Amino acid sequence: MSPRTRGGSWETDDVLARVAARLEAGRGGCRFIYVRKEVVEEPELGPEVGQIGLHELLVERLRARGITRLYRFQYEAYRAIMAGRDVFLVSGAATGKTEAFIIPILDRALKEGARSTIIYPTKALARDQVARFWGYAVPFLLRMDVLDGDTPTKERERIYESPPHVLITNPDMIHFSMARSHRFRRLLRGVSTVVLDEAHVYEGSFGSHVRMILERLRAYLGEELLFVASSATIGNPSELGELLFDRPVQVVEGRPRRRGIAYHVLVSSGTLSRWTVAARLMRLLASLGLRCLAFVDSQQMCEVVARIAKREGANVMVHRAGLLPEERHDVEAKLKAGELDGVVATPTLELGIDIGLLDAVVMAAPPPSYARYLQRAGRAGRRDRPGYIFTVLADDPIDAYYEREPERFFEQELTPVVFEPYNEEIAKIHLVAMLLERGGRMRLEAVPRGWEKALELCFHEGYAIEKGEWLLITRRARREFGFYSLRSAGREVRIIEMGTGRRVGSRSLPMALHDLHPGAIYLHQGRTYEVQELDLEHYAAYVRRVPDMPFYTRPIYEVGVSELELTARRKADGVEVAYGSGQITKTVLGYTIRHIGGDEEEAGVLPEAPLVLLDQPISWSFRTKLLVARYGEAAQPEAIHALEHALIHAARPVVGAGLSDLGGVSFPTGHIIIYDATPGGSGLSKLLFRRLERAHRIAHDILANCDCEDGCPRCVYDPFCGNNNRTLSRRGALRLAEAVLAGQIHASLGLEVLGEGGLP
Ligand SMILES: [Zn+2]
Ligand SMILES: [Zn+2]
Repeated sequence: MSPRTRGGSWETDDVLARVAARLEAGRGGCRFIYVRKEVVEEPELGPEVGQIGLHELLVERLRARGITRLYRFQYEAYRAIMAGRDVFLVSGAATGKTEAFIIPILDRALKEGARSTIIYPTKALARDQVARFWGYAVPFLLRMDVLDGDTPTKERERIYESPPHVLITNPDMIHFSMARSHRFRRLLRGVSTVVLDEAHVYEGSFGSHVRMILERLRAYLGEELLFVASSATIGNPSELGELLFDRPVQVVEGRPRRRGIAYHVLVSSGTLSRWTVAARLMRLLASLGLRCLAFVDSQQMCEVVARIAKREGANVMVHRAGLLPEERHDVEAKLKAGELDGVVATPTLELGIDIGLLDAVVMAAPPPSYARYLQRAGRAGRRDRPGYIFTVLADDPIDAYYEREPERFFEQELTPVVFEPYNEEIAKIHLVAMLLERGGRMRLEAVPRGWEKALELCFHEGYAIEKGEWLLITRRARREFGFYSLRSAGREVRIIEMGTGRRVGSRSLPMALHDLHPGAIYLHQGRTYEVQELDLEHYAAYVRRVPDMPFYTRPIYEVGVSELELTARRKADGVEVAYGSGQITKTVLGYTIRHIGGDEEEAGVLPEAPLVLLDQPISWSFRTKLLVARYGEAAQPEAIHALEHALIHAARPVVGAGLSDLGGVSFPTGHIIIYDATPGGSGLSKLLFRRLERAHRIAHDILANCDCEDGCPRCVYDPFCGNNNRTLSRRGALRLAEAVLAGQIHASLGLEVLGEGGLP
């Protein structure tokens, strides 16, 4: 690791020196503030492949591919899997992680005819990997097949007729086909090992879905089913393994990066916005002949960055959720063929992109967690050339926190990957799936323990009825089962172009309320649409194509909290805090219009943006997990609102949350509620409940170290504030935070006084 910032060995790197010089020569004052050089050595070697009892045909294949020895961690994984233990394997991209599980699986297939299923989070990843697996297959003896939505009928028939040793698929395929196809269920019969590759992706609602799919698999295939998870470096492999598999796992650790040199650069955006700087970096890298992948937090900002980069002359495209599959394939194909300088992607797709390694990675903002930073950084660096990783720090409380002391950025702990194991909104969908698997009925006593809330929801939504000892599925459930995506906890809203009736994407609730209210600007592959109508009864938003314009919108909304059910209580620095669930009602009242593209984009969070009120407010209600804490008997609205924002910002590094993963409401009674933005809960507010003391300290640091008058984007502003960042006082919040750290807050939780009038 190099000493801090300028004058370190990085200046001898030609590429980096040129990027720094050109960046600083431009207007706006953006510059490198910290460079860290990372050198990763070859990992420790283990035994020769011929000496560990592998089937001789497999030894031949490995040698033919140049593998004569295993790494020590691969050998450790081999022994654990052969001994029939559930294993959680952690190692970075391109470090030999795949071999660590494929070798034991093929060995068992050759020796015992054992059958396995390998699950990838996306189709693209599965198809990418299978080519690699084939290199180890023994012709005529071992069969491996990909089965997904794109598998042609003839091929599918062949797979059903004679099941392969290794079936490669994805969670969606298992979820829907288990429920709907008896041939698929028969195909799975006899599978003894299930591998989840890239398991760190299974967090939040996706994690809850996959846990329930695994429960269904175990119910169908039996308790002796062996589980193997393989993941990039994360903070809590044993905890995540237990969350996913519902039983203890053996952890095997590899290494975080493959061998080579990487430069990690923190870039200050100066007076420019992070979007402009990310786009400019893409342009500079392209001019040096380097291919790059840029990560941008939100779908709409992804479009914005691509638009600015194109305007500056870089040939880039957007790759994000909400695009149609054929559009995504097109982007992947063009990048592989060298027709693009780069791709701007949303984090939800950080692993789904089948484009291998690139020269550089640009992050428009620090990722929600350090583990995810390392995962994205792992994509940079091709063929023995250094990898370059740029992270833009701009006007944001957490960015400012790292800008003050850049070492803190690289010394972050790896936050745990979490999800809510019993998210009732999600369990509801899997209960319907279980009914479908059993021909539409099951005994009430067969409903898994802990799923009582999900059962209630099924009755409430008309998905199931009770008849004696039996639970029966309804026609409505059969019809609506396919409307639920594994990528969210709520229903998806379809986005439909008026006039053509063409579908131009989808968005899950409740985020759809933010992006698809009437009047919202919706960007899609560079095209601009204006939302005309949001029909929540039919889960559809109708949009109209409009001329491209340099604006985007942010909603003004209210949040109501009701029906609190608290299950745990504690004190954090003397502050009473409780955790549980509650009903959140979001009502969009209007929206602000913000400018993009100029250097004033950060005006996006300034209160002066023009405000438009809706004729008819739009509401959406969902149940989720939350924490409630009380910071005094009564509070100035400006102070408690600013403290709420500071705590939500502080929670980001503490629990590894993204900006929009947690929502908050503050009350003049001194209460602050912080809730999971995912219906049914994401596990984040639960983790924050446990770690609130750390959040208090970071919030205090943010509030104490800003040099603004009384509130700005670098301390207490929040781009997702429903109140347009009005009624905020940094100084008032600082006084509260000081009282917290001094142990002077003793108010009792007093939920009976928690009323209306909270500020989101
Ligand atoms: Zn400030
Ligand atoms: Zn607010």
